Amino acid sequence: MSDQCVFCGIVNGVVPNTKVAEDDATYAFMDINPASDGHLLVIPKRHSTDLLEIPADDLTAVTLSAQRIAKAVVEELGADGVNLLNCCGADAWQTVFHFHIHVIPRYRDKTKDRLGLPWKPGVPGDAETISTIGGRLSSVLS
Ligand code: AMP
Ligand code: ZN
Repeated sequence: MSDQCVFCGIVNGVVPNTKVAEDDATYAFMDINPASDGHLLVIPKRHSTDLLEIPADDLTAVTLSAQRIAKAVVEELGADGVNLLNCCGADAWQTVFHFHIHVIPRYRDKTKDRLGLPWKPGVPGDAETISTIGGRLSSVLS
């Protein structure tokens, strides 16, 4: 636990929040700046900074909790789809440095949904660059 961390404060009951679900390892609560109606966050109770640091058991627990909640937003809120989002690092838009997965319900009804794709879909990349980068990653991962 970190004294400076707002999400540790939420787990500890020090920072007010709208709790949605909890189990031994995870805690889920509503995001205060929702990208769509029902946008919430799932976090491990144990502090980890980000995706690169979180232990496998906490990552598994948070991911399973996010899946369970995704089913609930479809069934209870009538979402037409769901995006899961994790931001890892400030350059990847992470602003709170306690690992979290955003569960963002998506709606055809845009009065409930303010999210847009952050890149232009359907723009082909350079084939050689794709192949070179894929090869570099493959060589360190296999
Ligand atoms: P990220 O930019 O991926 O690190 O996401 C951090 C998220 O935490 C943002 O969507 C914020 O709106 C949300 N957030 C920050 N502080 C709080 C809080 N006290 N209660 C609920 N959500 C929060
Ligand atoms: Zn924390």
